[in-house]
Amino acid sequence: MSNFEINELKKLLGPEKVLTEVEDLYVYGYDSSIIYSGTPWAVVRAYSTEDVAKILKFADEHSIPVIPRGGGSSLTGGPVPLDGGIILDLRPMNKVKVNVDDGVVEAEAGATIDEVDKECRKYGFMFPIDPASSEVATVGGTLANDGGGMRGARYGTMRNALLSTEVVLPGGKVLNLGSPVYKQALGYELAQLIAGSEGTLGVITKAVFKIVPLPEKLGRILAFFNDVEDAARAIFTIRRRGLNPLVLEFLDDITLQAVDKVYKLGLPQAAAAVLADVDGPSESIERLINTFKKIFVEHNSFKVDVATDPKEMDRIYVARKGAYPALSRLYPVVIIGDICVPISKLPKMVRAVKDISKKYDIPIAAVGHAGDGNLHTFTGLHTTSGDEWERGYEANDELSLIAVELGGSASAEHGIGMQKKKLLERELILRSGDEVIKIMKEIKRIFDPKGIMNPGKLFD
Ligand SMILES: Cc1cc2nc3c(=O)[nH]c(=O)nc-3n(C[C@H](O)[C@H](O)[C@H](O)COP(=O)(O)OP(=O)(O)OC[C@H]3O[C@@H](n4cnc5c(N)ncnc54)[C@H](O)[C@@H]3O)c2cc1C
Repeated sequence: MSNFEINELKKLLGPEKVLTEVEDLYVYGYDSSIIYSGTPWAVVRAYSTEDVAKILKFADEHSIPVIPRGGGSSLTGGPVPLDGGIILDLRPMNKVKVNVDDGVVEAEAGATIDEVDKECRKYGFMFPIDPASSEVATVGGTLANDGGGMRGARYGTMRNALLSTEVVLPGGKVLNLGSPVYKQALGYELAQLIAGSEGTLGVITKAVFKIVPLPEKLGRILAFFNDVEDAARAIFTIRRRGLNPLVLEFLDDITLQAVDKVYKLGLPQAAAAVLADVDGPSESIERLINTFKKIFVEHNSFKVDVATDPKEMDRIYVARKGAYPALSRLYPVVIIGDICVPISKLPKMVRAVKDISKKYDIPIAAVGHAGDGNLHTFTGLHTTSGDEWERGYEANDELSLIAVELGGSASAEHGIGMQKKKLLERELILRSGDEVIKIMKEIKRIFDPKGIMNPGKLFD
């Protein structure tokens, strides 16, 4: 990008919205994976849909890559500029409007999930999707990655809550996709196509989502096990018996030790733990807690902690919500897996994690929203090169393949970015040859004929 083009951009938007200092370019060159990095030519901060439209018109005319960015909390390299370009920072666009009568919330792309949730709570509702990164993850980034989170077993991922979205295409055209009502049949589901498109088709500027009522009362249970498969079987049994907890999470021994070390929670030594949140009318909570306790004991849990007091519930939650930061402190480099298996295969999958860890002689932690079959593996490394890196990479690759062979997927909620491009291609080819990849590439060409939107992500 020439100095002339940068000056043009400043004239178009106002100089305060265009950042070109070395330190800005450096910071915006990373996401939370830390493994991937690049240097953008400029960072542009968008304050309105009009700003976004102007930038995309300019970039399209000048064939300049545009990489949309929200909180930068992606773990797969999604918002990292591969080969220069403009980083389009959506964070300043953070208005949130709850329409409680219609049971929806409209949020601009740069609002964080916590900001949206906080607004919903003022009206006795909550935002259904709750990523562990909710403090920083934005609506646009989480929708673009089709992120999920703690309440995934009940509410799924962003696309399950999405009703409509405003998207700006390369060239600057603004589209309104979907409709802000609970039922709609409007031909091909283009709003749903945007969910999971990772900034490769256009820029999400706002979206409307369903909201759900706040539970009348909550109970939190943390059960400890001496065997990982027992813990996974307990999760399976909970779902098999038709119970539908708000949260159902798995933590293995490495994760438990890491959070205990960092947050001093006084956790017992265990091979695994399961965290469950039950909710409902006050009078049902004790009964639900007892039902869950019974299932945990049936599956050989040696300790079950229960909390209904908000302070104690928060303390227990740290064990799960603090898992990523705690594990990241143990190893300078972490390859994060994002597999999902049919719920009945969860015991096999957690065993496979331990077996692969032994086979490659590398520590691999497993933690995740296992109530919906999703497990995150943390392959802990000290370097991004040489034998250790290769073993870690291969171990992650083999685990992803095992998940697919068990009828699942290598990609649940973190997006593909750069990290999972090969895994995506392998999985799609295993399922239907190369036909689906061809269709996806055609779709990309229709939305973005010059290929300026987040180039090098999803597919080459
Ligand atoms: C500690 C920690 C915990 C996490 N826990 C979870 C979890 O529980 N569940 C989960 O799903 N993920 C989790 N993640 C991963 C990450 O937080 C999610 O992928 C998140 O949703 C990304 O949102 P973001 O705003 O940070 O997006 P970014 O990282 O900025 O971008 C993500 C992708 O979206 C694109 N994008 C961003 N904004 C837009 C836009 N407006 N229009 C079009 N494309 C856009 C980017 O180009 C990029 O490809 C976690 C990450 C961390 C660090």
